[in-house]
Amino acid sequence: MYLEVKQLVKTFGGYTASDRVSFGIEKGRLIGLLGPSGGGKTTILRMLAGLETPDSGEIYIDGKLVNNVPAQRRGIGFVFQSYALFRHMTVYDNIAFGLTIQKRSKREIQARVSELIELTGLNGLEKRYPNQLSGGQRQRVAFARALAPEPHLLLLDEPFAAIDAKVRKELRSWLRATIERIGITTIFVTHDQDEAVEVADEIMIVNGGRLEQKGTPIDIYKNPLTPFVAGFIGESSRLDHPASLKGFEDELPDAKAIIRPEFVEIGAYGEISTPLAAEVGFVRDVFFRGNSWQIEAQIGSQSVSAYRSLEKTPLKAGDKVQVLIHRLILFNDKQSRIVENG
Ligand code: ATP
Repeated sequence: MYLEVKQLVKTFGGYTASDRVSFGIEKGRLIGLLGPSGGGKTTILRMLAGLETPDSGEIYIDGKLVNNVPAQRRGIGFVFQSYALFRHMTVYDNIAFGLTIQKRSKREIQARVSELIELTGLNGLEKRYPNQLSGGQRQRVAFARALAPEPHLLLLDEPFAAIDAKVRKELRSWLRATIERIGITTIFVTHDQDEAVEVADEIMIVNGGRLEQKGTPIDIYKNPLTPFVAGFIGESSRLDHPASLKGFEDELPDAKAIIRPEFVEIGAYGEISTPLAAEVGFVRDVFFRGNSWQIEAQIGSQSVSAYRSLEKTPLKAGDKVQVLIHRLILFNDKQSRIVENG
């Protein structure tokens, strides 16, 4: 593991912002750190960076314990959401900043800045000041400035939060390609699940100071370990009484469960003929999703969601329907399993 974190604890007053967080990251991976506001993402990043001292726990970079190594000597580059560029400095001087501090020679600085201008596609903008740049260009300057001193680990805290949706999407794919090209180990904080799923090799989900799960986006989608994770990645409905559903009577009466829309088939009453047990319910709401309808149906006291092909007869609120639940994800004490109908 290139980066290894063991049992990291940080409290503010009585509040535990990082609760025994442990994880390992291999070299060159792009990790999305995802979670709700106040979950502890920034606190983890700041401890890694050396801007915050953990109450207990250890941080190893490339096998070396760095707890007592000051921020500027950890070999880490950062880009923060509000990490303003130096307003009185040109793009060139902003990028050169870290190199000047390292007292590199003028020739060396020139060569490195040119390389980064090229890498970040900022050619021709060297002499501009930050207020003469677009938001996307500014973020790329911040990125180039962070990379200039050749860090081994890059930490990005919501780098695109202040940028509008379209440019943000472009920046995401640009970031992914650029990081792949340099091969730098990167942790990327976001509270946007689409951004994390699209950009990251692996995702870590933090909530209430705890690391709930770490894995590839597909793994987390398919095997969420907690109802919280299931709700955070992808669409899901939560079921309070899974054992009361037809086909799932054998399940633990007190188990928690969720269903994904793709696990459910909703048909007009009489449309679905199957030997499996289907529930009868009614339609609460219908949303147009572009390539399908999303149907919200009510079965007893529980509500479920499903997609319905545009080719089928449209359903409307109030219609009596059949609801066939093919499978559920059941949770039990930090474990989950998929249960099939029948
Ligand atoms: P966001 O997405 O809103 O940035 P986050 O997941 O990054 O949230 P953190 O900023 O790590 O969350 O904060 C975690 C918790 O720790 C929050 O409840 C926050 O109020 C608290 N906290 C963070 N820094 C401090 C501090 N310096 N003093 C007191 N409390 C703090």
